[in-house]
Amino acid sequence: MTTANLLDFDLEGLAAFCEKLGEKRFRATQLFRWIHQRGASDFAQMTDLAKSLREKLAVHAHVEGLPVLTQQASADGTIKWLFDVGDGNAVEAVFIPEDDRGTLCVSSQAGCAVGCRFCSTGHQGFSRNLSTGEIVAQLWFAEHFLRKHLKRDDRVISNVVMMGMGEPLQNYAALVPALRTMLDDNAYGLSRRRVTVSTSGVVPMIDRLGVDCPVALAVSLHAPGDALRDELVPLNRKYPLAELLDACQRYLAHAPRDFITFEYCMLDGVNDQPEHARQLIELVRSQGISCKFNLIPFNPFPASGLLRSPQPRVLAFAKLLSEAGIVTTVRKTRGDDIDAACGQLAGDVKDRTNAARRMAERRTVVLHPARKKSATSPVPGAMNR
Ligand code: SF4
Repeated sequence: MTTANLLDFDLEGLAAFCEKLGEKRFRATQLFRWIHQRGASDFAQMTDLAKSLREKLAVHAHVEGLPVLTQQASADGTIKWLFDVGDGNAVEAVFIPEDDRGTLCVSSQAGCAVGCRFCSTGHQGFSRNLSTGEIVAQLWFAEHFLRKHLKRDDRVISNVVMMGMGEPLQNYAALVPALRTMLDDNAYGLSRRRVTVSTSGVVPMIDRLGVDCPVALAVSLHAPGDALRDELVPLNRKYPLAELLDACQRYLAHAPRDFITFEYCMLDGVNDQPEHARQLIELVRSQGISCKFNLIPFNPFPASGLLRSPQPRVLAFAKLLSEAGIVTTVRKTRGDDIDAACGQLAGDVKDRTNAARRMAERRTVVLHPARKKSATSPVPGAMNR
């Protein structure tokens, strides 16, 4: 008999499950607290639940996290876990401690079908969506592991970013109950602004997220125009910049006083020139979007054929945006020594879509302006198709 993994349910789903067992819906709140606030998985431990409920749960349900394949700790305190999700697939989550917060970067898919040029996950191809339980299990494990490890009773993880492996908005049905569990005061109680969904720009799902669960939104922009973005973020061919920025505007109507964070990975000679900064300023000004920019030093990996922009160029780019009145930060790289930095999460993926092969075929030499001036591409440094 298959039994339900209770990590798959948000509170509403758990209440419906309790009803099916012939129990009052409010029992779900007690159960939810045991699982998420106390990290319990053994129903016998949940002594304030009626014995009859515990007996039913023992027959019809279980609470099961993901097996940890490896754990790596960086010199800077960052910790990376590799979780087994079966069939030869594994996904990664990363904890990044800072003075005033603890952030967990969570995966939503085994692999990713979007295939962004600068992303290690994208180069691995796509296997499958994670279930709600598999998304939540990363937080469940990390929070309770860290409390024990750091000998703390209070919450350790204050922020979650859906920026691990996968495009979260291409796994929408599993994502939303997972987000609701993160926000629920009977579970992790994270504030809406401390849970961030990062998307490469799945326009229809941005609209749905605004209605269903308007958490903080980060958009992987990476280019100021469609020609270059088509090459770096292939989803742009389906949802070009104008449509994406319109969706960002609509999103903010559901999240007043918020802003969109535009992620911008700095690629040497590709998208890091002063004219790119000026085009970006023009782009966001023309749309009047409330936004901030997060410049990400690229973490190179051989298959990308791309290089990190030199730090002075990153700072000069940031200065141009800042002087135009756009709040701009440069992301500190963390966990470099354990390949846990942004864009380096690779896990283990059985590519079922041949995305990796298609990317390799598409991959051509970057026309680096410093080395090759005769670019046929419309944008300096852009890739050949
Ligand atoms: S950046 Fe995000 S959307 Fe793009 S390939 Fe990587 S995981 Fe997928």
